[in-house]
Amino acid sequence: MSEHASWPFQEAQKVQLAFAGEGTRTPIVFETGFGPSGLPHVGTFAEVVRTSFIIQAFLQLTGRPGVLYAFCDDMDGLRRVPKNLPQPEMLAENLGRPISRIPDPFGCCSSFSGHMENKLKELLDRYQLGYQLKSSVEEYQKGVFNPALRLILEKLEEIKAVILPTLQEENQKDWSPFFPICENCGRLYTTRVLDYYPQKDSLKYVCDGTFGRPWKVEGCGHKDKISILDGKVKVGWKVDWAMRWFAYQVRYEMFGKDLIDSAKLSGKIVRLFGAEPPAGMTYEMFLSEAGKKISKSVGEGLAVEEWLRYAPLESMLFYLYQNPKKQRRLYFDVIPKSVDDYLAEVARYPALEETQVQDSVVWHLSKMTGKTPGYSGNINYTLVLHLIEGIGADDHDLLYDYLLRYDPKVAENRELVEQLVQSALNYFRDFIEPHKQYRTPDAGERELLQKFRDRLAALPDQDANQLQALVFDLARENGMEAAAFFKLIYQVLLGQDRGPRFGTFAKLVGKERILKMLEQKLAGATGS
Ligand SMILES: [Zn+2]
Ligand SMILES: [Zn+2]
Repeated sequence: MSEHASWPFQEAQKVQLAFAGEGTRTPIVFETGFGPSGLPHVGTFAEVVRTSFIIQAFLQLTGRPGVLYAFCDDMDGLRRVPKNLPQPEMLAENLGRPISRIPDPFGCCSSFSGHMENKLKELLDRYQLGYQLKSSVEEYQKGVFNPALRLILEKLEEIKAVILPTLQEENQKDWSPFFPICENCGRLYTTRVLDYYPQKDSLKYVCDGTFGRPWKVEGCGHKDKISILDGKVKVGWKVDWAMRWFAYQVRYEMFGKDLIDSAKLSGKIVRLFGAEPPAGMTYEMFLSEAGKKISKSVGEGLAVEEWLRYAPLESMLFYLYQNPKKQRRLYFDVIPKSVDDYLAEVARYPALEETQVQDSVVWHLSKMTGKTPGYSGNINYTLVLHLIEGIGADDHDLLYDYLLRYDPKVAENRELVEQLVQSALNYFRDFIEPHKQYRTPDAGERELLQKFRDRLAALPDQDANQLQALVFDLARENGMEAAAFFKLIYQVLLGQDRGPRFGTFAKLVGKERILKMLEQKLAGATGS
């Protein structure tokens, strides 16, 4: 038994236990699904990254390689016009058609789904995540699913017995696992199966349905016989999922909590085929800024590119490594803490006991990226942000020099620190600066701040604790709560209610700089 505590190892162990008896020649298949009807976001990326963590753990545990199939459901029909995409009228024209047959609204790729798949590929290739992209349409057309399609036809009644009880009565009568693509109008969701011919692997359909709003799509009336093989007919998604598990012998697939019921049905169906459903786990959906569940529709969630504008990739991988079963927000404001926690973990790593090493996110990252991240300094993201707040500089080199003076170890970690500075500058400009509101001190407060300035100027050195103590002393002497005095300082100097520990901040930006800031503010407050 594995003694690893981290979830990737526990998941890997599930696969090991469930499929231990299998031969050892081929790699074990891990699958993730991607609906290419919208641009990939952090949620899409999360599934691939998390499954990759498990594959590394599985290799470590068993010595057996795993392969990751990133399955793109590009045979799926377009059900609604996604928000935030160009050419909505063109897309509306194409409602009901498989997205692989719809033109690229961006005009650069061979199809709508081709565009989304290219985006996903770009993303995954950039980080050298090992995977095989599987295009549903190509797999259908190559005949990869043909044996399973025959099985579906053969087991039709048993499959109906699984699915029909979950449907509303009015939907039961015409239900079929098969969605013929009308050979006349090219649509999926307007067709209805009339009859099956198992001896000939074919069926009869009519294109007379309607669906969708506000754009209503109507069938063309075409009636025909068609083969169920080679991509002429798609299978509805719960059966489709089971079909993939069967055809690829998928041994692991994780999915969001929203798919628990679907997975149960797909599990029953794959058993009808005489196979076992994969091992897997359900993860919590990410929450938006407002704490609502992020839907998969376009325009929600944080794009991977956006995260990378504000922080290094590793901090995002670190964020995705954190317990997937815990509900967490995915919004810009999680970034600073994620980076700081990541750096702390990296700094801790060399001192870990041997038994703890493989449960560290750093071990998993080193397996994934091929290099072990290292960091030994005292600078973190929050500190860099505070420095930018303090000296207000847009000057990358000046910021770097300040940091180097604060912590000589910065020199050993130059590349990382410079990346932090660049990312933090972006973060500051986009999220902090626009919200700054400076307080104009009243007469009493000015007097207090003047005293503060003079006492600060008289301090002989720049010890962080002494600088911190000065604020407490002054507050006490003036019968004021220390917290209120800190708040006053931050509101006046930084335009915000809270700030870094004052002593650390003063040491970081330098006493002279604080004195200058105070003088400017006091001069400004008199209206001079
Ligand atoms: Zn394109
Ligand atoms: Zn039609």
